[in-house]
Amino acid sequence: MNSADIKLGYSCNNNCIHCVITDQKKNALKTRGNQDRTTEEYKKELYNSRINGCTSVTFTGGEPTLRKDLLELLNYAKSLGFRINMQTNGRAFYYKKFAERFTPFNITYTIALHGHTAEMHESITRSKESFGQTFKGIKNLVELKQKIWGKVVISKKNYKNLKNISKMFIDLGILNMNFAFPHAQGNAWKHFDKVVPKYTKIKKYIHETIDYVEFYNKNITLSFETIPFCFMVGYEKYVSELKFKGNKHIELKQLDGKTKDWQKIRLQIKSKFKQCKKCKYDSICEGPWKEYPKKYGIREFSPVS
Ligand code: SF4
Repeated sequence: MNSADIKLGYSCNNNCIHCVITDQKKNALKTRGNQDRTTEEYKKELYNSRINGCTSVTFTGGEPTLRKDLLELLNYAKSLGFRINMQTNGRAFYYKKFAERFTPFNITYTIALHGHTAEMHESITRSKESFGQTFKGIKNLVELKQKIWGKVVISKKNYKNLKNISKMFIDLGILNMNFAFPHAQGNAWKHFDKVVPKYTKIKKYIHETIDYVEFYNKNITLSFETIPFCFMVGYEKYVSELKFKGNKHIELKQLDGKTKDWQKIRLQIKSKFKQCKKCKYDSICEGPWKEYPKKYGIREFSPVS
C-alpha cells in the first residue's frame, strides 16, 4: 500500500525533551510566519497524495487534536477514500465526548506514552498532567473499540523500564507497540546527553521486554525502530525497518519544501560503517541515525557472522 505522512503543522501541547521538530518549527515561523498548514493547504496535500496513488494517510504534527478543523479534514480524507492513521499524544481524548466524535473515521491511532509513571512520562513531555490525560485518553479510545498502537521513544530516562511500559500498554488493552530510538535532531540534539542512550546499554532491556511480551501474549505486535541488527541477534524479527522492505511508496510532507520519498531519504539520514561490509545483515540493515556516531563513535557496531 502506498501511503502519505502529511504534517498538519508544529503546534503542540507537549514539549518533549526528545522532540525532533523544533528546528523545522523555527524555519516555518521564519519562512511562512506561522507553524501550521491552513485548512486549504492540507486539503490540497491530501488531494495530491491521493492522485499520486496513496491509499493511506497519516495525520501528524505537532498535535493534530489541537486543530479546530480536524473533523473537516478527516471528512475530506474519508471522502477521498483514504485509510486514516493519526499520530497523537492522546491528551484530548481524555474527554470521552470528544473521543466519540472520531469513531466514524475508523482511525488507527499511534499514541505516545514514554513512561509507566507520571513522573517518568512528564520528565520527558515536560508538561504537567500529560500522563493522566494520555492514560485516560487511551482508556476512552479502547472502550470505544478504536485501533491503537502504543508508541515509546526510548531515552536515558526510560530505557531501564521498557518492560514496565510494555506491561502498562498490555494492561490498557493495547496489542500493538512500537519502541523507537531517538533521532538526535531538534530538542534531542540540544539535550543529547540527557536523551540519547548507548545501544550497548539498552540492548539487554530491549531483549528483556521482548521476552516478557512474548511470554505474556503471543498476539501482541511489537517492533523496535532504528535498532541495528547487531543489537538484535536472536530478536531480528522485531526490527521495525523490516516492514519497509518491498516496493511500498511513502510520501513525507513536511510543512515546507518538496514532498520527500521516505524510502530514500530515510537511508540518507542514517549511517553505515566500513565494518558493516563483513556483516551478514549488511544488505537489510539501515544502521543508526547519522548523528549517533558523531557523538558515540562506531566501535559498538560489530559485524554479525
Ligand atoms: S550492518 Fe553494521 S550496523 Fe547493521 S547490524 Fe551489521 S554491523 Fe550492525
